[in-house]
Amino acid sequence: MAQFNNLIQVITHFADEVVATEHLIQMRWNGNITCVHCNHDKIYTLKGATKRFKCAGCRKQFSATKGTIFENSAIPLQKWFAAVYILTSHKKGISSHQLAKDISITQKSAWFVLQRVRFALKSGSFNYTSTDTIQCDETYVGGKEKNRHQGKTDKVERMLSRRAQGLPMKAKAGAAEKTAVFGMIVTGGMVKAEVVQNTTTETLTGIIEKNIQPGITIVTDDYKSYRKLQQNYTHKSVNHSKGQYCKNGFHTNGIENFWSIFKRGIIGIYHQVSDKHLDKYIDEFEFRFNNRKCTEANRFDKMLSLCNTRLTYAQLIAE
Ligand SMILES: [Zn+2]
Repeated sequence: MAQFNNLIQVITHFADEVVATEHLIQMRWNGNITCVHCNHDKIYTLKGATKRFKCAGCRKQFSATKGTIFENSAIPLQKWFAAVYILTSHKKGISSHQLAKDISITQKSAWFVLQRVRFALKSGSFNYTSTDTIQCDETYVGGKEKNRHQGKTDKVERMLSRRAQGLPMKAKAGAAEKTAVFGMIVTGGMVKAEVVQNTTTETLTGIIEKNIQPGITIVTDDYKSYRKLQQNYTHKSVNHSKGQYCKNGFHTNGIENFWSIFKRGIIGIYHQVSDKHLDKYIDEFEFRFNNRKCTEANRFDKMLSLCNTRLTYAQLIAE
C-alpha cells in the first residue's frame, strides 16, 4: 500500500479517480466488502466506468462512497483526500477560505468539506490504564463581541482573569457570554474534551464519572466544582491561587498545553467559531492531538477508515 508523506504525493497519487476509489475501498472495508444496506457479505462488483457493487442478499446496489462523508459529492476524491491530508497534518488546521483557494473549490464547499471531515473524526474513545493520572480542567472560548455590551466584555475578561488566577468568580452572570469547554487528559496520553452548558459540580462530576472509573488519580486546580471528586477518586489539586503549579509531582500542564494549542488554532485560523459548531472543532483538535505520535501517512489513512458516517448539509445546518 502506498504511503503518503506529503501533500504532493497525495495529489499526484489520487489524480486518477479510480485509484482514489480503490484506496477508499481498501481503507473502508479492508478487503471484505459488506452491504451498506443489510451488512450481507456476498457482494458482486458491477461492470462500468464507476465502480458499483450489488448485494447478493438484498439485491440493492451501492457505490464505494455510499454511507460515507464523500457520498453524493461533486468534488473529486482527489480534492477530498487533499483536504483530509491538510486537516489531519496541519497542527492548527485550516480555514475554509484558505482551503477553497488551495484546492480550487468555493468557500461554501470548503466549509462543508471541513465540517464533514471533522464529523468523521469524532472518535469518542478515551483510553487509560488504572495506574494513569488524569488531568481535568475547564476553559472558556469565544464570545459574540458584537452582541456584547462593552462593560460586560470587561466584566467577563475580569472574571476569566480571576478564574485563571484561581480566585473566586464573582461575575457569574457574564460567563454566559463565553462557551465553557471541559477537558480530560491522560498524563502523556490522550485527550477528550466537550462543550458544557455550565461548570457546576453536577455537570463536571457527571462527565468525569461517565468517562473515568472510580479510584483513578485525578488532578485539577482548586476550583470548587472539583471538591467532591475525593469521594470516588484519588483527587490531587494544585492551588493556582497560591501560585502553585506543581504539587508532589502532580500538575495540570498537559490539559493546559492542549487548551493553548486549541485556542491558538481557534484564534489564529478560525477566528470566530459559533457555539453550535464548537464541538466539531474540538473533535478536530482532539484527533490531531491523540494521533500526534502517528506518521502523517498513518493519520491520513486512519481518518479515511473513519469515513463510514455521512453528514448531509441539512443535518449539519439543523444540528
Ligand atoms: Zn444488502
